[in-house]
Formats: sequence, C-alpha cells, structure tokens
Amino acid sequence: MAYIRLTDQQQRWQERAATIAADVLAPAAAEADRTARFPRAQLDALRDGGLLGLRGDAAHGGAGEGLLTTCLVTETLAKACPSTALIYKMHLESIEMISRAPTAAQAAEVLPRLVSGEWLSTVAGSEAGHQGGAWAGGPKSTVERVEGGYRVANIRKSFVTGAGLADAYFFMCRYEPEGAKPQQLMFQVLRDDLAWSVDEPWDGLGMRANNSSPMTFNGFIPDARLLNPDNQRVDLMPVVLGTYAATYLGIAAGCYEHLHAHVAGTTLADGRRMGDVETVQARMATARIELERSRALLYAACAAFDDGAHGGPQAFFEAKVACDAVGTFITQEAMTLGGGTAFAKRLPFERYFRDARAGMVMGIAHDIALLNVGRMLFPKPKVERTPA
Ligand SMILES: Cc1cc2nc3c(=O)[nH]c(=O)nc-3n(C[C@H](O)[C@H](O)[C@H](O)COP(=O)(O)OP(=O)(O)OC[C@H]3O[C@@H](n4cnc5c(N)ncnc54)[C@H](O)[C@@H]3O)c2cc1C
Repeated sequence: MAYIRLTDQQQRWQERAATIAADVLAPAAAEADRTARFPRAQLDALRDGGLLGLRGDAAHGGAGEGLLTTCLVTETLAKACPSTALIYKMHLESIEMISRAPTAAQAAEVLPRLVSGEWLSTVAGSEAGHQGGAWAGGPKSTVERVEGGYRVANIRKSFVTGAGLADAYFFMCRYEPEGAKPQQLMFQVLRDDLAWSVDEPWDGLGMRANNSSPMTFNGFIPDARLLNPDNQRVDLMPVVLGTYAATYLGIAAGCYEHLHAHVAGTTLADGRRMGDVETVQARMATARIELERSRALLYAACAAFDDGAHGGPQAFFEAKVACDAVGTFITQEAMTLGGGTAFAKRLPFERYFRDARAGMVMGIAHDIALLNVGRMLFPKPKVERTPA
C-alpha cells in the first residue's frame, strides 16, 4: 500500500519492475547470495524491460522518467534481490551526469549504449581512508594533465560494484591545476580505456552477488571522456541518495512482507495464532509505521524534486538515513520474530539482514549522512570580511 497517489504511468513502471522481480529476480536471489555469482540474467531482464534507460532522455533512447518512478522501480527490485538492485542503482547513478550534460561526441557515441543497457556502467569513486563513500567529500587520488587527456597512475578504488564486469565506469578523481584550486573531475571511462586489475575476490557479508571488489587503474583517459566540461549545473545528489534510500527501503519492505506472511501463517506451541500475541502485534505495528514513514519521506522528496520544488539535498540525506535505518531495524526484528528457524537460514530473513548492513556503511555512510543533516540544521555563520 502506498499512501501517496501515483500516476498511471508510475504505476505501470512499478508493475513492470514487479513482474521482472517476481519472474526473474526473486527465484534466483537465494542462489545468487549463496554462490556470490554476478546476476547477468537478472540484469539482462532489466535491460530488456527498458529499466536501464529509465532516466535517460527520449532523444537518447531513454524513457525520460522522473525520480519518483526511478525510486519506485529500485525499491521494487530490491524487495526481490538487493544485490541486483544495487548494481542497477549504480548504473543509474553512473550515467546521470552524462545523461544530463553530454558533449556532442558523448551523446552520439556513448550515451545511447548506456541508456539502452547495451553497456552496463558502475561507479568507481570510493578510496580507502577517504571517509565513508564516493560522495562523502573526502579527497580522491590525483590525475595528472597530459597532452590530450589525463594520466592515471596506480589509482586504487576500494569498492567498485560490478568490478571488472561493467562496460563503463563513472570515475571520480582529483585534479590540481597549477596555481588554481583543486577540482573534482568525473569521467565516463570505457572498460578498455585504462589498464585495470580486480585486486581481490568479493566475499562480502551481504550484497554478495554484486562483485564489489577493489580495483586498481593505470593509463590514460582521453579528454573525450571528461564529463560536463562546460560545468553545467547538474544536481546529482537526489539521484545518488534517492536510489540508495530506495534500495534499503526495498530491503526493509521485502523483509517485512515475508515477515508478515510468516507471522500470519504461524501457530505457536500453546495453540495461539502468532498474530494474536500482543507483543508480536506491537512489534509488527512499529515495523510497519517505521517502514511507511521512511517511504513517505523518500517519496515526498522525490515528488518535490520532480515538481521542481526541490529545496536542496537535505530531504535526500534525511531519506537515506531513514531508509538505511529502517532496513537494519526491520531485518533485526525479523531475526527475532523468525526465531531459530530464521537463525538456521530456513527463512529468507538473514539474507535481508546481511544485505541491509551495507546501507549503514555505503554510499554516503549512515553516520556521515546524519552529520550532513546536522550541519544543515546549524549552518556556520558567514564570516564578515573586514575591509583592508
Ligand atoms: C556492498 C558495497 C558496494 C559498494 N559499491 C561501491 C561502488 O560501486 N562504488 C564506490 O565508489 N563505492 C562503493 N562502495 C564503497 C562505499 O560507498 C564506502 O566507500 C565504503 O563502504 C566505506 O568503507 P570504508 O571502510 O572506507 O569506511 P570508512 O570511510 O573508513 O568509514 C568507516 C566508518 O567511520 C565513520 N566515519 C568515517 N568518516 C567519517 C566522517 N567524516 N564523519 C563521521 N564518521 C565518519 C563512520 O562510522 C563510517 O561508517 C561499496 C561498499 C559496499 C559495502
């Protein structure tokens, strides 16, 4: 049930995602988690359903959908298979800049293949010791300016979802022009542009099927790969944070639905229906309220953004914090209400529980996103310049 009115078109996209999730993602989710195998067939189904180009402009072959639709689809996929949803989210995040501000060459040669899903893209941003995520504001390794492009020497990215398997990388790094302020540069690098290595196998606690290994990059990035060379104003954070929030909301919602079915179908040893036990009712009611209020915050932020009434990133930081927290809360509740059966992995709760933990440490880590909200509540006073 959604407490926000969706348009017919938004419902159609949600239903399309739900069909793919039910037919392709859900039946393979436990096996994908167990084997940690990259979900190729699942991604092919998303591509064939037009989901990889959901946000791309129609002029480049995309569906031109808004952020609320994007988050509805991401949430729906995450309910069925969080690993696949995270790969999907990284693709959308990765192609947002090139979709909004392509150069003529990028629009002709690269963008249509990213939007059609012929090429899967991902994000190579985070570096070890650089504070909680690709977007967390910590410094990145520096590239050197050379004739016709930029030289990359031994840049190690600490986590890259789809490492070595993606066709393109949204590559973030620092550039320090002589005598000028350092800049954060962004490139859409194709897989054969640079020499790269995947430095260790992915064996995460959760999100096991998405190959989020560290990678090292070396070589030369031609100028043609530089994103937004004209510095157009592109607001990336709503998509970055909104799709993170939707992924962890989806985990919470998927786990809640399984938990509700489990409680509704269980009779306790003393003969009572589990759903008649008041402590269980209270826990389930609390879980549901937490879920719905996190969802309402995310959907409201997305709807405001789509309506052009967006007042800055605060609502998206709040939604990210609320949704990663509700993911850990509901999966924790499921591990208690599911009892030893959940602990023994005979219910899907422990898989959701492990996947939800990623939300606390990634994207912009929970703590750092929370601090961002705090700083926005108490902005530093502007320092008055005294005339010399
Ligand atoms: C499954 C998974 C997939 C990922 N995929 C990608 C990807 O595709 N692309 C990508 O670029 N990155 C990716 N990441 C990386 C992710 O976004 C984070 O960069 C990474 O998880 C941070 O880990 P770390 O060990 O470097 O944490 P650290 O940065 O060392 O932070 C650890 C903890 O220290 C605290 N902390 C750190 N800095 C601060 C601060 N400034 N203020 C307050 N508290 C702070 C927080 O509690 C934080 O959780 C992925 C991570 C995971 C787990």
